[in-house]
Amino acid sequence: MPIYEYACRKCGHEFETLVRSGSVPDCPSCSSTELEKKLSLFATASSGPEPQSAAGPCGACGHPGGPGACALH
Ligand SMILES: [Zn+2]
Repeated sequence: MPIYEYACRKCGHEFETLVRSGSVPDCPSCSSTELEKKLSLFATASSGPEPQSAAGPCGACGHPGGPGACALH
C-alpha cells in the first residue's frame, strides 16, 4: 500500500498518509480535501538522482547543451 506525501492548499500543512484506492485523504489539521499530492516515498527512494543535480545533465559528461544533448552526436 503506497504512502503519499501531501501538502494542504488551505493551511499549508504537510503530511504523509496511506492511500487506499477509492478513498480521498484529507488534511489532519483543517480537514480540507484540497491537497497537493507530492511524490510517494517509495518513488522518491527509487527514482535515482535529482533532475537539478549539480552533475552533468547525463550524469557523465556535463554537456552544456542541456539534458540529452550529449547523446545527439
Ligand atoms: Zn489543512
